[in-house]
Amino acid sequence: METRSKELFERAKVHIPGGVNSPVRAFKAVGRTPRFIQSAKGSRIWDVDGNEYIDYVCSWGPGILGHAHPRVIEKVKEACGQGLTYGAPTEKEVQLAELIAEMIPSMEVSRLVSSGTEAVMSAVRVARGYTRRNKIIKFRGCYHGHSDSLLVKAGSGALTTSVPDSAGVPSDDTKNTLIAEYNNPESVEALFQANPEEIAAVIVEPVAANMGVVLPQKGFLSFLRNITKKYGALLIFDEVITGFRLALGGAQEYFHVTPDLTTLGKIVGGGMPIGAYGGKREIMQMVSPDGPVYQAGTLSGNPIATTAGIETLKILKEDPAIYQRLEKKAEKIADAAREAAGNHIQVCQIGSLLSVFFTCREVWDYDSAASSDLNLYADYFGYLLDHGIYTAPSQFEAMFLSDAHTEEDMEHTCQVIREGLCSLDF
Ligand SMILES: *Cc1c(COP(=O)(O)O)cnc(C)c1O
Repeated sequence: METRSKELFERAKVHIPGGVNSPVRAFKAVGRTPRFIQSAKGSRIWDVDGNEYIDYVCSWGPGILGHAHPRVIEKVKEACGQGLTYGAPTEKEVQLAELIAEMIPSMEVSRLVSSGTEAVMSAVRVARGYTRRNKIIKFRGCYHGHSDSLLVKAGSGALTTSVPDSAGVPSDDTKNTLIAEYNNPESVEALFQANPEEIAAVIVEPVAANMGVVLPQKGFLSFLRNITKKYGALLIFDEVITGFRLALGGAQEYFHVTPDLTTLGKIVGGGMPIGAYGGKREIMQMVSPDGPVYQAGTLSGNPIATTAGIETLKILKEDPAIYQRLEKKAEKIADAAREAAGNHIQVCQIGSLLSVFFTCREVWDYDSAASSDLNLYADYFGYLLDHGIYTAPSQFEAMFLSDAHTEEDMEHTCQVIREGLCSLDF
């Protein structure tokens, strides 16, 4: 039953563009009506019609502990009693910056903002200020938030609706954004050779997760480390998804490649709006009020959001075995899918992130990811939704596992996935 969701969606469309506050929530790519969510606990979410789902969106990544973790909720309630925002420094901000530096040592100094978009936008500004260069290299299919200069060949929402660029972005704002191909060192080398003294930074999702999950090939990230060093450019890892998800220290720990600047979002806020960017002191000294790179925020380092972030990171730190548990679950799902659909599909999985692509081609870059059959994805998504499994309403997003998914959840999910794939007309 989806009566209430349908009613709410009609109402929403009157005063909200497309009825949603972020495009992919609209279920447009899969031809369905979005479910309006009422509440969530552990691995489950409930919609306004009383339907229960096992949730594999996890708010697009923040929910690594599952929903409404009792320890996080308790701390947040306590913090609310002390006021919601002051616009003045707090001990919590210091604590969170200390935790980030401890868990991701390359982020010696970091600044808190309110979203991943802001974090990336600011990191790019710092890289430009520090190197006194203007151009940046990004990869086709990688998404770095919706700031103007990065909204070029961006993934997820932009891919699904076939609008790689956005209206309203002057071409002047993107002329310094050079596009390379993910997992293709030659494409990066060529851009450096053509612009040897002009490139401020290479920005990359160390595991691409906004064109579906696409893994970096062996040596690709260390190649980026070496070539940026050689040309005096900075390497920025956008770890908004991978930070605290692939490992306590993010993708840089997982792959042993250390960037100059890192951006965080999603998990670092424990379900509340936070982003962060940071790096070595020498680079971060550029940021105002220490240096000439201006960046500010009324609600930056918000006390409620930092409370949720701190408690979430503490829980992860106390129990690092969580990462093995998460990986086992994701592997189980990947195995079930491969078993059911063989070489009709490609499953890309790393840690607790995975995507099922409906293509016979090996998926390793934008073109191969985009070769997935979106009609098959929509059918697969619909089958899962109708059987109580809530996954991303877009091919070009990840499936996220959380520590709250139980053995029973996994058994049931694998069963539904097998049935769903077998029901498809390949
Ligand atoms: C989600 C995401 C962003 C943007 O973060 P918001 O909090 O949505 O602004 C940036 N980069 C990556 C890799 C992301 O997945």
